[in-house]
Amino acid sequence: MKSVRPITLNNTLSGKKELFVPLKKGKVTMYNCGPTVYDFAHIGNFRTYIMSDTIRRVFEYEGLKMKQAMNITDVDDKTIRRSLEEGVTLETLTAKYEKLFWEDMESLNILKPHKILGARDHVKDMIKMISVLLKKGIAYKTADGIYVSIDKVKNYGVLARLKIANTDSGTTGQANHEHGRIANDEYDKENPRDFAIWKFSANKDSAEEDETVAWNAPFGCGRPGWHIECSAMSIKALGKTIDIHTGATDLIFPHHTNEIAQSESATGKTFVNYWIHGGFMNVEDEKMSKSKGNFLKLADLVAEQISPIAFRYWVLTSHYRSQVNFSFDAVRAAQTALLKLCEEIIRWGEEEKIDTKAKTGKLKRIAKIAPDETYKKEFETAITDDFNMPQAVATMWKVTKDPALSPAEKKTTILDFDKVLGLRLADISTISTSPILKKEEIPLEVTVLAEARLAARLAKDWPKADALRAEIESRGFSVKDTEQGFTIEEL
Ligand SMILES: [Zn+2]
Repeated sequence: MKSVRPITLNNTLSGKKELFVPLKKGKVTMYNCGPTVYDFAHIGNFRTYIMSDTIRRVFEYEGLKMKQAMNITDVDDKTIRRSLEEGVTLETLTAKYEKLFWEDMESLNILKPHKILGARDHVKDMIKMISVLLKKGIAYKTADGIYVSIDKVKNYGVLARLKIANTDSGTTGQANHEHGRIANDEYDKENPRDFAIWKFSANKDSAEEDETVAWNAPFGCGRPGWHIECSAMSIKALGKTIDIHTGATDLIFPHHTNEIAQSESATGKTFVNYWIHGGFMNVEDEKMSKSKGNFLKLADLVAEQISPIAFRYWVLTSHYRSQVNFSFDAVRAAQTALLKLCEEIIRWGEEEKIDTKAKTGKLKRIAKIAPDETYKKEFETAITDDFNMPQAVATMWKVTKDPALSPAEKKTTILDFDKVLGLRLADISTISTSPILKKEEIPLEVTVLAEARLAARLAKDWPKADALRAEIESRGFSVKDTEQGFTIEEL
């Protein structure tokens, strides 16, 4: 077995790059804050899931065994509000958006976490945790719910570097709750307050008679707050202490801050050793918001002929912690680069065949070629240095341009890198159905063929152009010449 290369990562808790040391040698536990399924996820959310997928792929590439869990928030303020607005049950609403979420994840080639936990299925675990917090005097009851007293929590707000005045850090008997209380799941960082972990329903005594979403609990009928959901599910899936917890930076406060408060108060143990947070995404230089109409779904990109895999590739070209600006022009440029790479891979495949034929006189599987050592080392240096994917992508391009490597060596090296990049490059070289776009869209290799045909036309190589047209038509598409180049249509 190869020895594991040291992996460094930026830990939000310390604010520094640290050497990763797992709890159990050779194994990694990771929890990703999952989607709240009340609407489509937007492309900023998917950037964060591409980050966690990349982290998993890097660890696996380096020979560590991953156990990855993700929650589905299917009950909270947002889901309940939306189900009432749409006049559908919470189950109907969340089932619809959860299904769409996994479809988008699949088209981005994001690996499914080993454990997926729906919040509604784990209310029992949340009730148990709330009972412990009440018993320990960390949580208290009011008329509308159960709250965590932040004054009772040891080191409250460390992750977000909060400055809290007059806290007694749980050293005195009676909490004074002078920070006030907040029942909402989301609130402002400037205003840390006691937060709700359980919200009583109108009828506190019985879940059955209540028309809202509610569960019976020893402390009164109601429903969990968002923050307690992740604490209970992370512990349930992966244990009291885990290696890594991820999310976008906007989750540092209050969500992750409150997760730490609840979990560590309840178990008395460190909740998470390494916190990893992904940077923010603007769209065309503006913050994404529904009112501005720049709230982009993956389907909006596909409608603009941008492949989800091209979006993934574009995401990998900036560091996960940096703030990025999405623009259609930038992603189109990334798609063009990716198409070029696919073209190269197809060409290498062809050259490899010709090469083999010349040597053996017949088409035969060539001997297994290993990835190029020097580039592999360079690639691994990048990915194990706080998941430096832009650097890793740069190394990949260096491979494509190195005249010292044979086509077969290039192809083998790049397909090896693709275990981490996740660009489905292994599919592009062989299959005739679409590896990158969904079926109803134009497959990437058809576009590649059409581009090759355009090049042949410009070079006035008519036989080649005709052969390529036949090739495109054999895949169920027609190509028409235009002044700008070509258009492709389904036959
Ligand atoms: Zn969460």
